[in-house]
Amino acid sequence: MAKNSNKQSRKEECCSFCGRSRAEVGVLFQGADGATICNDCIEIGYTSLANNNLLSAKDAKKGAKAAKGFSADKLLKPAQIKEFLDTYIVGQDSAKRSIAVAVYNHYKRLIRKDSAEDVELDKSNIILVGPTGTGKTLIARTIARLLEVPFTIVDATVLTQAGYVGEDVESILSRLYQASGYDLEATQRGIIFIDEIDKIARKGDNPSITRDVSGEGVQQALLKILEGTVVNVAPEGGRKHPEQKFVQVDTKNILFICGGAFDGIEKRIAQRLNTRAIGYGRVNTESIDRENLLKYVQPQDIKSFGLIPELVGRVPVITHLEPLSRQVLRNILTEPKNAIIRQYHHLFEMDNIKLHFEEDALEFIVDKAMEFKLGARGLRSICEAIMKDLMFEAPSSDITEFTITKQYAEQKFDASASTLTKQSA
Ligand code: ADP
Repeated sequence: MAKNSNKQSRKEECCSFCGRSRAEVGVLFQGADGATICNDCIEIGYTSLANNNLLSAKDAKKGAKAAKGFSADKLLKPAQIKEFLDTYIVGQDSAKRSIAVAVYNHYKRLIRKDSAEDVELDKSNIILVGPTGTGKTLIARTIARLLEVPFTIVDATVLTQAGYVGEDVESILSRLYQASGYDLEATQRGIIFIDEIDKIARKGDNPSITRDVSGEGVQQALLKILEGTVVNVAPEGGRKHPEQKFVQVDTKNILFICGGAFDGIEKRIAQRLNTRAIGYGRVNTESIDRENLLKYVQPQDIKSFGLIPELVGRVPVITHLEPLSRQVLRNILTEPKNAIIRQYHHLFEMDNIKLHFEEDALEFIVDKAMEFKLGARGLRSICEAIMKDLMFEAPSSDITEFTITKQYAEQKFDASASTLTKQSA
């Protein structure tokens, strides 16, 4: 008898559908006769109902709402998309224009999905080439916000071929599925930002490295997903195992934005331009902007850097980002819609304190970011160092106005400069 009840309690601890124990699942719901179901199985059931149009009218309406923004009359023109990007991203005009066009074309593919026209529109996957901290991720994030589609960022360096230690390439789809709130339809038109794509370059061209355990294999796996295929995705990610339930994600309409610094690619670009200068398709070497060779980046440069030709072929839009100049850094402080300085103004306003920044103080912040080579990422930490005492003291004081002068900024910054230098080292 004791044995029986023991058996019963063990049974109750498992999901009646997938058989996983309570410890293996997030939540286990108990039914009237002792049957149980876990959160994953509920989601799979929901997805299956949605895919077969068996949802109740209320839920179906919710799905239709998620698909909004993809009708022809709502189609944002490239200039409107760029305008939206302008409110968050300073400079980088060339990248913003290319992206606006690519996204516009992506929209078009989505809305004409069901039409019978026989011209196949290729996907306009994008590759952003530019130094780190120049706004690649910010652009991808901002685009996703505009489109109201699920968005996820993955770091290419953690991806490995199936069977190796690391994350399977397919795990990026699990992440997108999670970001969509487990909505298959939304997942299938989401955006995936693959950062550091240059780090999975084939090492063959580099004589100092003889082994290439992950580079090319990962590229091959990525290629399949980029091309458009149906993948069995584990909703919760992780390694696949036989008892796991999968959702089938079609990647045909998922937009991929890849970003990478491609350190040293300028040398390849210069080489190509110099060859062209003396050979076929002459270019006027006089007019080449040697300070910013990235703007001449072409698919063949990415290929010679070590991305396989098939993959390069699947990412037809190549664009570059400019290094951030002093002026751009200054503008980043105050211009974007969610600029750092605006955020401080807002935070203090909530305590009924009017905050002012003298121009000299802002210039000082930019000087320090340039000096420590911290780029735009450093602006925030420098501001935090200057503002932290005031943010602590002001709310419990009776001040109604405060001006950050250069002298104040200098004094507060110097007091915490040692921590900052350590961070940047
Ligand atoms: P990347 O992906 O190129 O390494 P990020 O997009 O992550 O760089 O940029 C880091 C941070 O720097 C962003 O969160 C943003 O605050 C700021 N930033 C960088 N470039 C710009 C820009 N052009 N306009 C506005 N902010 C920028």
